[in-house]
Amino acid sequence: MSEITSANLIAMFAEIAKSMAEAKAHLCELDGVIGDADHGIAMDLGFSTVATNLGALDAGTTDPAAVFNTAAKSFLNAIGASSGPLYATAFMRAGASVKGKNVLSDDDFADAFIAMAKGIQDRGKAEIGDKTMIDAWVPAAEAVEAAKARGASLTELLDAAGKAAETGAEATKAMIASKGRSARLGERAIGHIDPGAASAAILIRAMGRGLG
Ligand code: ADP
Ligand code: MG
Repeated sequence: MSEITSANLIAMFAEIAKSMAEAKAHLCELDGVIGDADHGIAMDLGFSTVATNLGALDAGTTDPAAVFNTAAKSFLNAIGASSGPLYATAFMRAGASVKGKNVLSDDDFADAFIAMAKGIQDRGKAEIGDKTMIDAWVPAAEAVEAAKARGASLTELLDAAGKAAETGAEATKAMIASKGRSARLGERAIGHIDPGAASAAILIRAMGRGLG
């Protein structure tokens, strides 16, 4: 895709919402082991609200920044869990990175993706190895940066991001958490995938399908 329109972004968020609905039980199960079992509920509710609110926009008169900003506000208002402000910040930063553009190039989308990961990190202050969604988002953003540098297509770029996020999420199994609710578990968290990292990988894969 050489031009990404607001309609394409709205379709992307619809695909994310669909994937979160499908993954709801799985994500609650993961969060039940090392958290409070609500992560699937939060992601499903958050993204279904995003999809509903974006569906009410006129894609023809709404620019990409406004799509991301509406997604951010909708997500934040819909959920009280810690992932609320993290993803709201991600989408606000994506919006800021594409401000003033009517359509996005592949490079613009890459920049928006990288801004999302940076936003989550700035907001939550987690580092790689803390057993959070950052363990999926940061390697994914690095893969996007590398794909952009070699001039990869959007499909290749998002595929590389999805693979990196999945590998990163899998790696959280071996980690002890130092951020979020599961930090109090200490070594008991070892052997279990972080739910936020798992949902991040699902989200990034859905982006690829939604824009594909
Ligand atoms: P809550 O912990 O409030 O119940 P959720 O269950 O929706 O919220 O989300 C939990 C996920 O949030 C964790 O699995 C982790 O990936 C992520 N998370 C928690 N704190 C942080 C943080 N400071 N930075 C990045 N991600 C975080
Ligand atoms: Mg939870």
